[in-house]
Amino acid sequence: MLIKAENISKVYGSGASQVTALHRANLEIASGEFLSIMGPSGSGKSTLLHLLSGLDYPTAGSLSYDGQEIYQLRDRELSAFRRRRIGFIFQQFHLLPVLTARENILMPLLLDKKQADSAYFDELTELLGIRDRLAHLPHELSGGQQQRVAIARALIAKPDIIFADEPTGNLDSKSGAEVMRMLKNIWEKMGRTLVVITHDHRIAQMAARKVVIVDGVLSEGEQKGAEVL
Ligand code: ADP
Ligand code: MG
Repeated sequence: MLIKAENISKVYGSGASQVTALHRANLEIASGEFLSIMGPSGSGKSTLLHLLSGLDYPTAGSLSYDGQEIYQLRDRELSAFRRRRIGFIFQQFHLLPVLTARENILMPLLLDKKQADSAYFDELTELLGIRDRLAHLPHELSGGQQQRVAIARALIAKPDIIFADEPTGNLDSKSGAEVMRMLKNIWEKMGRTLVVITHDHRIAQMAARKVVIVDGVLSEGEQKGAEVL
């Protein structure tokens, strides 16, 4: 699946409080790529991710998935598209506290009235090292385990593309490194497209392709001085 963003911009607010969070970004993401988007806090990373994944609308510009203009879909169509084709991993995990790990993982399928592929469920939970944690509630799990449950949930519907917004931002460096290693391993094994947003250059280094964003302006490749971000 080819994702093509053309001149997408996002302006928040109006008048004196107006903020241009993203300025005319152009980006193409090919199927199977592992891309990192790095930039300092407030540079527009989350804004870009929300626009690329159809979670929010841009102020200007267009976004297509395999030639299909995403922002022209109706709300319901767009939600269904996101549920089936896109997986999200957030910094704050966003697990439902009253559901067990297993129930959290299966939630996207439930919303889509689909059955789980049990072999795939087993493979995912094995790869993520959470098979013996499935009956636990989120508060009974460590941060790293919660994020691994969230990764399984992001992948359960077999999406084409996974967007992760600072997936290790709430973890200590050891469990963060473990989460990234597993995410990369899943990418290698399953051949999905992976887009990881980070302000950590060690994480950005793990990706084959690197994009940098500074003050809402996107540029391709390693930037001089990017290591100090
Ligand atoms: P990052 O994820 O890189 O930290 P964001 O995309 O969250 O950056 O934010 C980029 C800029 O847009 C920041 O200046 C932020 O304050 C502003 N911003 C983000 N979301 C909103 C919003 N909903 N309303 C107003 N300003 C926002
Ligand atoms: Mg952010």
